[in-house]
Amino acid sequence: MRRRHFVLGCFLASYIVTARTILVLAPHPDDAALYASGVIYAAHQRGDVVKIAFLTNGDFYTDIDDHYVERGLKLEEETVASMAELGPQAEDLLFLGYGDTTTEFIYHRKDETSVVTSPAGVSATYAQYGLNRQSFHETVFGSPAPYVRGNIRADFRKILEIHRPDEIFATHLVDENPDHAGVYLFLYDALVAFSRTEMGKFYNPAVYCGIVHAPNESDWPQKPGSQSKPFARPKYLELTARRPGF
Ligand SMILES: [Zn+2]
Repeated sequence: MRRRHFVLGCFLASYIVTARTILVLAPHPDDAALYASGVIYAAHQRGDVVKIAFLTNGDFYTDIDDHYVERGLKLEEETVASMAELGPQAEDLLFLGYGDTTTEFIYHRKDETSVVTSPAGVSATYAQYGLNRQSFHETVFGSPAPYVRGNIRADFRKILEIHRPDEIFATHLVDENPDHAGVYLFLYDALVAFSRTEMGKFYNPAVYCGIVHAPNESDWPQKPGSQSKPFARPKYLELTARRPGF
């Protein structure tokens, strides 16, 4: 009997040691599925904790005139459904709710205080799906975040503090979409800032970066012609293997 307890104890110990936390950072609602479906599915199947954070609601485009926010919320709803197919549930999805196409601009802007209004006409974070059915900033800080750099920085930093992911997947700086580059820039800042705190002193995650929109190749990915053929290799993919600053 004792032996059986010992064996069970070893099994539990090894399970606890091997269960990891994976964070996927998506600039827009469709990007987690586009560049990290395999990672998300495999991690969930292994029993890892999987968290997916969406920087914007993808509300720049709409097929209904001026209904940008409705479009953003519809994308959130569809994302909850598509991620559930891969495993993660609504409470694992963190919708940050910043303005589509604004985030790289906000990062580089000298003015840190005046609030940016997105092309969708919105100037503070919003969400109605995912964790607590509200934007991540509302969950953590109690109110929506006006679109300024400090608030995006604070959200990224909180995600690292709360979840301490072992592996982080992000879009790379060379990706030609401004929000995709924005994810990289804000992640870099958050990692540096967190590593300088007492809490983050020994925090050393593996960071993997990928491309959705290859630079100078806006038609990538071209359809491979048949489902059994892989996509062509995007230009500059090898650059993403280098992690300047990390
Ligand atoms: Zn995107």
